[in-house]
Amino acid sequence: MIDTHCHIDFEDFDHDREEVIARAKDKLNHVIVSGYSNDSNMDVLKLSKDYEGFIYPTFGFHPVSSQNATQEDIEIAHDNIRRHLDDIVAIGEVGMDYYYVTDKTLRERQQEIFRSFLKLADEYKVPIVMHVRDCEKKAVNIIEDYDNIPYFVFHCYGGSLKTAKRIMNRDDSYMSFSTMLCYSKHHQDLIEKIDLDYVLTETDSPYLAMTKEERNEPVNVVKAVHKIAEIKDMSVSEVDEITTANARKIFKI
Ligand SMILES: [Zn+2]
Repeated sequence: MIDTHCHIDFEDFDHDREEVIARAKDKLNHVIVSGYSNDSNMDVLKLSKDYEGFIYPTFGFHPVSSQNATQEDIEIAHDNIRRHLDDIVAIGEVGMDYYYVTDKTLRERQQEIFRSFLKLADEYKVPIVMHVRDCEKKAVNIIEDYDNIPYFVFHCYGGSLKTAKRIMNRDDSYMSFSTMLCYSKHHQDLIEKIDLDYVLTETDSPYLAMTKEERNEPVNVVKAVHKIAEIKDMSVSEVDEITTANARKIFKI
């Protein structure tokens, strides 16, 4: 099993990061840690060097913070991506968030920044990991403008089934499902109808734990895989095999 998206560089893990990673290593094949700021990108790079072959990094800029970022901040992110193309397995997380960002001008700025990262992924033929919330349909329209990006991942997909069907029609796009599956009816309904050939698993740790107080961690991706197996009436090993193979193909790990 692979946790394809988490943030174990967060300070939430400062006091026991080693143990968290040891627990993950015990049950999982790999963990992908997604950068969300210029500092975070460097932190996830360091983690990937410390746990070479187990942890892989992606470099991005979170859409909610991108709205307030200066052009210089964004250019630093671009430069770091160019400099570390051999280290990163994807660009992300980048994207658009209409849940937290409601102002029209800020949404436009968000889209402009999202497109700047798509352009980079297109130029260097790198997969892209997207955070898209409450604007999935719009994002699917936007990515149609980029022909050279090998794979698109909708991390924590929570859009409609209709948009999910459009994503499944693309053949280069995937939806990632998290531990949220254990308690979100909407996600349970989605996964029931989504073909596993388009599915990845993740935790988005430290977020999305079973309760709000709890801290999520990568090893919990096992719970997401079990839940998918239960909902789709398949064996755990079958779900594991398909979703792990998808992740290996996309991220070349
Ligand atoms: Zn994330």
